Amino acid sequence: MSTDLTTLVLPDGELVTEPPVLAEYRLNPYTQETAAEGQPIAVVFATSVADVQTTLQFATTHHIPVVTQGARTSIANGAAGLDGSILLNLSRLNHIVALQPENQTAVVEAGVLNGDLDQAARKVGYFYAPDPGSKPISTIGGNIATNAGGMASLKYGTTRENVLGLKVVLADGRLLELGGATFKNNASYDLTDLFIGSEGTLGVVVEATVRLRPIPFGDTVTGLATFADVHALTHAVQVLQASGVNPSMLEVLNRVSIEALDEYEGIDLGGRGEQALLIFQLDVAVAGALDLVDDLLRKAGAQTIDVTSDPARTATIIKIRQDIFAAGAQYGRLIVEDIAVPLGQLAIVADRAEAIAAKHGQRLLLLGHAGDGNLHPDIILESKDGALPAEMQAYIDELLPFVISVGGTVSAEHGIGTIKKKWVPQQLSPAVQTLQQQIKAVFDPTGILNPGRKF
Ligand SMILES: Cc1cc2nc3c(=O)[nH]c(=O)nc-3n(C[C@H](O)[C@H](O)[C@H](O)COP(=O)(O)OP(=O)(O)OC[C@H]3O[C@@H](n4cnc5c(N)ncnc54)[C@H](O)[C@@H]3O)c2cc1C
Repeated sequence: MSTDLTTLVLPDGELVTEPPVLAEYRLNPYTQETAAEGQPIAVVFATSVADVQTTLQFATTHHIPVVTQGARTSIANGAAGLDGSILLNLSRLNHIVALQPENQTAVVEAGVLNGDLDQAARKVGYFYAPDPGSKPISTIGGNIATNAGGMASLKYGTTRENVLGLKVVLADGRLLELGGATFKNNASYDLTDLFIGSEGTLGVVVEATVRLRPIPFGDTVTGLATFADVHALTHAVQVLQASGVNPSMLEVLNRVSIEALDEYEGIDLGGRGEQALLIFQLDVAVAGALDLVDDLLRKAGAQTIDVTSDPARTATIIKIRQDIFAAGAQYGRLIVEDIAVPLGQLAIVADRAEAIAAKHGQRLLLLGHAGDGNLHPDIILESKDGALPAEMQAYIDELLPFVISVGGTVSAEHGIGTIKKKWVPQQLSPAVQTLQQQIKAVFDPTGILNPGRKF
């Protein structure tokens, strides 16, 4: 029986049911792994909190699944359409409500782009630290729902460490105000934290109070160091992490990643056969820090070290790292993995990823936020369509249980969505999974919010 959508009357936003719009918005275009996208019945473009409340009350009454969307940059298929669902799109709920330098905070609607908030903050001497590779194109609401990370997580934490308060609409339409603008808050259980990373399964984030950081005083130094292999590089990462210089970035790229970037950007990062590249940054380089880093890197086996404090050159280096997704995707579909392991296991896991990829005949782009123990051991599927071939699936099926066996996680920052769901029971005990389901039932008793995703 089809639902009568004429009774869904939005106070401010737009309800769209035209097939071309549904066909566009049901997809998560950056999810490269094959995943089922269902047929939604409508897209709601919310422009007010009241739109969100009205939509959720309607959906609860009529038992309609709701998929909340930000900018649809999910690479875990977390915001793709489900059969019979309403796509609750928040990209038009996009006002910066307040910049509050006196509090070192900002209040933003969920659809504000991360990059837009950052630029606005910089005009008043601050910045917004979380910097996923999708910074210019993803929303703060989506970042919160996935607990997005990035290069700066090493020093400033993931999105979780930068959110102080939330306004959330529950499945029944109730508006909750959680947390606040204080850096510390121990009043009862921390429901703010519970919503961070909940991937649209517990409620809809409509507004957030986030932390702004003062722009660091003094020189920022960014560098490239090359190593004989990723194993040697991970050793250098541990040494730098232990040194007390407090780097703001420690990124790894293996030989295949370097080649992909050279080809994509028309540059020459790997012309001398470089096998492993470390991108490092000290956003506050105190006197003597650079000499120490140089010394430590050389002792750890760095073959070359190239350092700059020139803003334009720094921006170029950062852009190179940000472009790796597009660089990999130039060959076909980049099948992205997103593991994190305890720092002490990094070398072992990097070696094992290389070995498993070689065993199954895969070209491995091994890259990621090495300082966080977060690697993206990605592989390339040249065909544009179709399911993963058996040997690619075999690579994933061998890699992820190994990661779990050394105390790692199958999802560090991209979320579970549908793509990683099958691994959750291997990582979490039955007791923990049951508790997760009970928590979901408290917030979303009829199970309309992003059903079948996350666990
Ligand atoms: C080029 C590229 C680089 C990337 N780099 C990184 C990276 O470095 N680090 C990283 O962590 N991720 C990265 N990502 C993944 C992605 O950008 C992040 O997961 C991002 O946080 C998603 O934001 P979005 O606005 O696109 O959300 P969407 O993709 O629209 O949604 C993601 C999930 O959040 C839920 N959701 C969205 N908005 C809300 C809301 N307001 N309330 C409740 N639930 C909501 C959705 O239901 C879905 O489950 C990258 C993606 C691309 C395409």
